[in-house]
Amino acid sequence: MSAGPTYVIEGEIRRFDERDTAFSREALIEGSPNEIAYHTMYPEKIEIDRKLARFITLKMEPGCSDDHFADAIYEAHFKSSAALALPDMVDGEPASEKTDWSPAQAAAKVKAFARAIGADDVRIGPLKQEWVYSHRGSRPFFEGGYSNAPYFSGIPEGYQGARYGDPVELGHSGAISMAFDQKKDLVGTGSTRAVDFEVGRVYAKSVLASVQLARFIRALGYPARAHHLRNYLIMLVPVAVDSGIGELGRCGYIVSRKSGANLRLATVTTDMPLEFDDPVDIGMQDFCDKCKKCAVTCPSGAIPLEKTLVNGSWRWKLNPEACLQYWGHTGYTCGICQTVCPWTKPHNIFHRSVASAAVNLPWIRRALVKGDDVVYGAGFSPLPVPRWLEDG
Ligand code: SF4
Ligand code: SF4
Repeated sequence: MSAGPTYVIEGEIRRFDERDTAFSREALIEGSPNEIAYHTMYPEKIEIDRKLARFITLKMEPGCSDDHFADAIYEAHFKSSAALALPDMVDGEPASEKTDWSPAQAAAKVKAFARAIGADDVRIGPLKQEWVYSHRGSRPFFEGGYSNAPYFSGIPEGYQGARYGDPVELGHSGAISMAFDQKKDLVGTGSTRAVDFEVGRVYAKSVLASVQLARFIRALGYPARAHHLRNYLIMLVPVAVDSGIGELGRCGYIVSRKSGANLRLATVTTDMPLEFDDPVDIGMQDFCDKCKKCAVTCPSGAIPLEKTLVNGSWRWKLNPEACLQYWGHTGYTCGICQTVCPWTKPHNIFHRSVASAAVNLPWIRRALVKGDDVVYGAGFSPLPVPRWLEDG
């Protein structure tokens, strides 16, 4: 029998309001009714939110950045994905005729489909209400349209009537979590155009896959909703932990036995009867206690040394503002913590054996941490940016 997920709950978990995420706050348009209302409630966030907004504006507004190559990459990956955020892309009516697969059969088919369209791992677990956002805060839901228009001009049909701050209700029973690996030779370049490229590439793949999987399930007769980079109703990481993709690491990312921290997630929630997987205990909580490599290496100091009690659960609480400010400082996404994690290693027999030892032999973990420092270096050594992604 499964021992359950490895996060420790103490007290009540309040559903998280998407308006409080850094990515929602940086999208607040200065002087808009939503911005004024939000910052009247949280005046202490005004300064930091405006700094974050400047970085995002540089990334997204045509002509604001002086790196046109990076802009073109951003446009290709992220703006294409935005079209798949529309309501009739992520959701819709199920077909009237239902397949009559058993939960085990349905789970096997759904996983095979997800892998066939590009997921590197796929697991199924319950959808717990505590991981469903309480209110909407993401970009397409801004009242009055999105004037800062990297994604849509005006309000597309389907979003009309949808409002920033709308309460979220999602009663699906299950969640299919998909993980997509990033290429370490690109993410390991630090905070560069190559990281932008790779993160965008993998997000675009995950966005399309989640939309495809949700449509597949609806066509089989069951409700299904895609949750991806551009349109979430849930917190993907704890949902993926519940399904057994991996454990929450110190770095704030989910860490999986196979791919380490170097992956991105997308999820489909559904009422299709599916056999659930168990959460996993790969020893991450103890390993991270002994490791700290991401915290020591992070250039922004965003990764903490100690766990704290955050909204009812003990965890290492990332400082997203510090992290995003570093991205703003370099002008690019950063992949340092995902790269230095000792679990982020090539998929080969040697590293599979080391991972197996880390999972099964708690007494060896400290030695493995030291060994990783000796072999790969205690700090971060950036890999070269591929020639084609350089200027000229
Ligand atoms: S992405 Fe970079 S800045 Fe952000 S937490 Fe990781 S290492 Fe730190
Ligand atoms: S780098 Fe070390 S401390 Fe950070 S997530 Fe990976 S194992 Fe945990």
